[in-house]
Amino acid sequence: MKEMQKLFPSIDGNEYQREEIISHIKNIFTEIDELKDPSKLTLGEMPEYTEDYYNRVIQQAMVPEMGLPMEDTVQKLLNLVKGHRYVNRNYVANAAPLPNIASILGNLIMVLVNGNNLWDVEGPAAATAEVEVTSMLSKLIGYDATVSTGYTTWGGQGAVFQSLRLAIARHAPQSNRNGVPNNVYCFCSELSHYSLYKSVEATGIGIDNMIRVKVKEDHSMDLEDLQEKMEQVIAEGGIPLYVLATMGTTDTFGIDDLAGMKRITEELEQKNGLNPIYIHADSAMGGMYTFFNEYDFENNPLQFDEKVCDVLTNYQQKFRNIRLADSMVFDFHKLGQTPYITSLFLIKDKEYLKYVDLDASETPYVGNRGYGSYHTSYTLECSRMGSAMAIYASLLAFGVEGYQELLANYIRVNIAFREALTKEVQNVAMTNDISPITTFRFYPEAQKWNDERDGHLTCEEMTEINQFNDEFAEVLGLERDTIFFGNTRKQRLIEPVNSDQRIPVYAHKFFAVSPYTTIEEIDRYVAFLKEHMAFYLKTREQILV
Ligand SMILES: *Cc1c(COP(=O)(O)O)cnc(C)c1O
Repeated sequence: MKEMQKLFPSIDGNEYQREEIISHIKNIFTEIDELKDPSKLTLGEMPEYTEDYYNRVIQQAMVPEMGLPMEDTVQKLLNLVKGHRYVNRNYVANAAPLPNIASILGNLIMVLVNGNNLWDVEGPAAATAEVEVTSMLSKLIGYDATVSTGYTTWGGQGAVFQSLRLAIARHAPQSNRNGVPNNVYCFCSELSHYSLYKSVEATGIGIDNMIRVKVKEDHSMDLEDLQEKMEQVIAEGGIPLYVLATMGTTDTFGIDDLAGMKRITEELEQKNGLNPIYIHADSAMGGMYTFFNEYDFENNPLQFDEKVCDVLTNYQQKFRNIRLADSMVFDFHKLGQTPYITSLFLIKDKEYLKYVDLDASETPYVGNRGYGSYHTSYTLECSRMGSAMAIYASLLAFGVEGYQELLANYIRVNIAFREALTKEVQNVAMTNDISPITTFRFYPEAQKWNDERDGHLTCEEMTEINQFNDEFAEVLGLERDTIFFGNTRKQRLIEPVNSDQRIPVYAHKFFAVSPYTTIEEIDRYVAFLKEHMAFYLKTREQILV
């Protein structure tokens, strides 16, 4: 076993074994650093992703008969990193994080002691960190920390799933025995994330019982449409169970009016004698902006520009309402810049968990001893990684102000990007409100977004503009190694003048997510788009001739 022990860290803390592992870590950092190039998106050269790439991988794969030396193992791993996208200043596509140093260290510590977040006896560090970040963030968003609870889980999608589970159990406490009632309905905006779609499918509620509500100009849910659709469900004998309030849509950062939503659900509950309707704030994208809930815009201590303040003041009014939701989520691995997966699901009232908790007799091997007092038998996972450690580390290292700086910069850069792109490129329109994301759409000739948005274009015209943008996305995609813009095939739906079939709008996306995406870089982003648009228009002209 002596040979096998060499594959493990020491048990006595001897320096020799410590230096050994540190030397590998140092080697990893050095080699990755050597692959970094601030003018490119990728770490070194991308492998050739030929059509048979994964087939070749499948054919060659085999567990080695004898273990490799550690150096060779590390080299094999570093080979996988070559060509990896790296979230530097050239990445403006999606909400992908560049994990901050504190979160990397928090993760490392968690791995070194390898706590199991299931039970504090098996993972005391993560348990305390989880309780602590739950309290910290409850206070930040305005939940009562003595009543609320929370736990880290599998992403913003996991939070939606678990919130739906809580909603079902609260509405029908016997559902764990009898199954889910078949006349319950869920509501979400038509631009909400597909998390709810998957969740109604997996809980057995069924997709037919998920009602999509129209959005308004600002990509937030149209509450009149919500009320109408809920009333219709009630009139037909159905029961509204759950509303998903999207706080920052994934593509356009639309923010639902949670206070208005709450008013409507409460009215309907009273009028129709319904159980409380569950509201989950899907704040996976926008939740970090609750860090401005208490910011003093009058005195503006961090001295943000007026335009940035205007956006953030507006956010403050909307995000403060998250406290009205029954649950919400912080996806730190989006705008909070931590490694995957670091999502904290926050529940307003820990009473909700009693409907889904396991009886001690169902968990014979953990949680039912005199020792240990934190046992998360109510989560859908059994063993859980202690990702609260990375969240805790980030909160300590950034503080509220650090996150405010980071989050305000996303806005600042977007404002500058919009101004520069509008000035430099004639045939483009910005198609959402100022936020960490700018969606923009090009036109074969002059831009006619206002007409298009107001439904004055024909179906054929819209389709042609969509195709124009789709093809241009391919042109940009070829050079994603230089600057990587995002795009979407359904920014929103618009009814054309000659049909009542609504048409999805294609758009490009600029997502300022890296701390290295700064004002100084704007001219480069815009020049890249301008150049490629000129090239695209020219080649198109040649083809058309
Ligand atoms: C990203 C996102 C999700 C899914 O979150 P994951 O952490 O990727 O599981 C859910 N809802 C919204 C609005 C999102 O933007």
